[in-house]
Amino acid sequence: MPKPFRHYLPALTLLLPVTCFPAAPASTPQQWCAAIGERLGSVPPALCHKLQLQAAPIQSVRHNALMFRDLPPAPRKIASLGAPPKRPLRILLVGGIHGDELTSASIVFRWLQWVDEAEPGQYHWRVIPVANPDGLLASPAQRMNANGVDLNRNFPTPDWHSNAHNYWASKTQRDPRRFPGKDAMSEQETRWLHDQIESFKPNLIVSVHAPFGILDFDGPARQPRRFGSLSLNRLGIYPGSLGNYGGEHKNTPVITIELPHATSMPPLREQRKIWDDMLSWIRQNLANKNLS
Ligand SMILES: [Zn+2]
Repeated sequence: MPKPFRHYLPALTLLLPVTCFPAAPASTPQQWCAAIGERLGSVPPALCHKLQLQAAPIQSVRHNALMFRDLPPAPRKIASLGAPPKRPLRILLVGGIHGDELTSASIVFRWLQWVDEAEPGQYHWRVIPVANPDGLLASPAQRMNANGVDLNRNFPTPDWHSNAHNYWASKTQRDPRRFPGKDAMSEQETRWLHDQIESFKPNLIVSVHAPFGILDFDGPARQPRRFGSLSLNRLGIYPGSLGNYGGEHKNTPVITIELPHATSMPPLREQRKIWDDMLSWIRQNLANKNLS
């Protein structure tokens, strides 16, 4: 006679993926850099410290620090006396909103090492390499935050209440990796990112993901065609996504960079080419426009 099903449950339970969160949060910059260094091979703690990120006043659900770096343009000589200084272009650069897309955080740490070079040094940058530290530091790393919410579906787009849950149920079959949350901005990580947009008022938002190997674009301005080997390929508009919120609702251009692999970085030459092509697009499409 076969055993009742419950006899197999312990063995089945062992097969199910279980997400573990570190017992101690990475709340201070020292703890945070140590934890990030363990997770991202390309960001050893010494480099992380050198990049001088600072902790936001609020933390993630699991009390990990939300770290950022604010880089105003370096003071420069004003060419003609009496001319009012031009307001610098403001760029918000975000990685790691999906915690299992490790390269999206690693490449933002890389670019953070290049933002004070001559051309990008003219702009005002706010850089958030790891928008979802709970997801990145979980074992295994997970897309969602510690409440199981896809932060990139949690922004307060005008269609959120009418569409976010319908979309999740009908288009994703209630995929837990794409749960938009109980309400728009239910998550403190989303609220913090939203506050950054409200206070910093970026002229451009760059959000890095993986692994689709394409570019996406929302909002005003001419669409970018190609950064490095990544070509424009519109993914569509999702209720609650940052592209939808920033590009369609706040009328701010949002470039979404989808790297080709979530755990394997592009070669250094390609990291540089994507960066250089992005700077070239910014120069041609935003830098000489009248900004507010
Ligand atoms: Zn993503």
